[in-house]
Amino acid sequence: MDVIRHSVGILRKQLRGDSVSATKEELLQAVVAAVAGQMHGFYRGTLQPVVNGTGVVLHTNMGRAPLSPGALEVVVNTASYYNNLELDLATGERGSRYWHLEALLTRLTGAEAALVVNNNAAAVLLGLNTFAQGREVIVSRGQLVEIGGAFRIPEVMKSSGARLVEVGTTNKTYPADFEKALSEETALLFAAHTSNYKIVGFTREIGLSELVSLGKKHDIPVMLDLGSGILFDLSPWGLKEEPTVQASVSTGADIITFSGDKMLGGPQAGIIVGKKKYIEAMKRNQLLRALRVDKLILSALEGTLRAYLTTAPDQQIPVIRMLTATAVSLEKRSRVLCDRLIAVLTRYPAVERIAVTDLEDMVGGGAYPDHQIQGFGVEIQFRERLLEKVTRRLRMGNPAMITRTQDGKMLISIRTLLPEQEEQVVHLLDQALESLDAAAAKANE
Ligand SMILES: *Cc1c(COP(=O)(O)O)cnc(C)c1O
Repeated sequence: MDVIRHSVGILRKQLRGDSVSATKEELLQAVVAAVAGQMHGFYRGTLQPVVNGTGVVLHTNMGRAPLSPGALEVVVNTASYYNNLELDLATGERGSRYWHLEALLTRLTGAEAALVVNNNAAAVLLGLNTFAQGREVIVSRGQLVEIGGAFRIPEVMKSSGARLVEVGTTNKTYPADFEKALSEETALLFAAHTSNYKIVGFTREIGLSELVSLGKKHDIPVMLDLGSGILFDLSPWGLKEEPTVQASVSTGADIITFSGDKMLGGPQAGIIVGKKKYIEAMKRNQLLRALRVDKLILSALEGTLRAYLTTAPDQQIPVIRMLTATAVSLEKRSRVLCDRLIAVLTRYPAVERIAVTDLEDMVGGGAYPDHQIQGFGVEIQFRERLLEKVTRRLRMGNPAMITRTQDGKMLISIRTLLPEQEEQVVHLLDQALESLDAAAAKANE
């Protein structure tokens, strides 16, 4: 009823504004169409799949990592039933939800202990609050990062109740700068991986190993906000600048935090690995109750992590598969897509040219800011400045499709398309062009 009233209200306003007359029949039709449109929106939901043709592998606006079928299988299998989330099956007593992934995470990273919270921001908050509330945390000025606007180290520091002590300068920080700032109040030495920017030129940043020796010498824990959380070494594919989690653990850092839905390719989560006594202290912090993860996340993360142990993650995990795809295979897939598009779309006068093109893809998600990956895809040129209209129709399509625009052309990168989406791209473009044609024909009536 509300939907009908709302639709009639909108039409009434339109009619008043346009001062057009309409027959009873036309009005009824308009109301029916408006109601159907709204109901369609309800049934389809607002959160929906999107075909990512941008070539940006980790796009926070597009939900970061698509999950692997293996991860989804675990979610369906656990969440469709009651489960042992907090039940110790061996004793029949209350168990801990944090127990489930610990063995997997310690085995994969080499750390002594592990804990999973809602996201990496929560992990950093929990660490700072547990070890440094009301005390001091020393950080290099070159690492006071902001990630995606909502996460700023100084702000998180404030929320945690820790006092920030900045040392060094934007471009140069030495171990001696940390040493000079040490005091009775120092609770933590903090390092953040500067994942979304790079300071180049005349620079010196304190290395993690240097920080760890300093921490050992003065018996102060070292915490590292690693950000991306790479478990699978991507250096053979040219992505060498970011350290793996395993490498960071082996430096001896006490607490390391990273995201579950960036380079790891899992669900949104904050993963904390490190020395047992510190992880145990974090588990005892009341704040953890507010940051705790749900069974869906734990299931999806377990399914994702298992792929790292039992199979080749570059074949199982979509994000890793996309990042390790070779230029040869991308070009080959682009040719197939291009041929299909030519076969289906050339009947539209709006389409001027369709061709395979090389393009620059990106890792995204704040990782590898200046690293472009050689990619391939299809470029489409439209007549009469129709590019914008087609782009919009694709974005509003079902499913929605996001493309790239460059030099007046539409670019569709093949890297970020899931295999089953390649044929869908043909269909979606077909639909968009057909609806544009129909709209043009109507306007000419
Ligand atoms: C992405 C990122 C964060 C925030 O992680 P979320 O999982 O999005 O909360 C924090 N620190 C660094 C260095 C990051 O790269």
